[in-house]
Amino acid sequence: MIEIIQADITTLEVDAIVNAANSSLLGGGGVDGAIHRAAGPELLAHNKTLGGCNVGEVKLAPGFELPAKWIILTVGPVWRGGNEDEADLLSNCYVNSLELALTKSCQHVAFPAISTGIYGYPVEAAAKIAINAMKNYENKFERIIACCFSENDVEIYKKLLS
Ligand code: ADP
Repeated sequence: MIEIIQADITTLEVDAIVNAANSSLLGGGGVDGAIHRAAGPELLAHNKTLGGCNVGEVKLAPGFELPAKWIILTVGPVWRGGNEDEADLLSNCYVNSLELALTKSCQHVAFPAISTGIYGYPVEAAAKIAINAMKNYENKFERIIACCFSENDVEIYKKLLS
């Protein structure tokens, strides 16, 4: 089942939350900053051992001080107008995160709206890609959660899902 909620993703008691990180994995603004603050300094220490992450790919970290068990680290594409493979790269973020979650037997996974903040991806186009990937994996999980930060994003996701 796909669930659309408005929440701070760091508060969710789920098997895994996904972080929209940057390729250094060493912290940044937006949801990444919030996750680092809430997970505590062990996350940065762990991530320093990972050697970064390419766009569309994923790495794994424990949840540390978060209620979530795992943090799936992925790097969304920066929006450059739409002709730089952004859609495929963004789709890879969702698919690779869900595949990694399956290998850890996660049943509940929550995603932020990857790339739609600082990275500038238009929300509706990004949400379409998110929902498509989630639908393809819906029957492999109890719950896939689209964790929106704004009410406006919730409306967009709900419209696309229905
Ligand atoms: P990116 O660099 O991939 O664009 P951002 O963190 O700037 O990542 O934004 C991605 C989305 O995460 C945006 O919709 C932003 O509003 C949202 N966001 C920011 N903080 C949180 C949070 N604590 N929980 C959930 N979503 C958040």
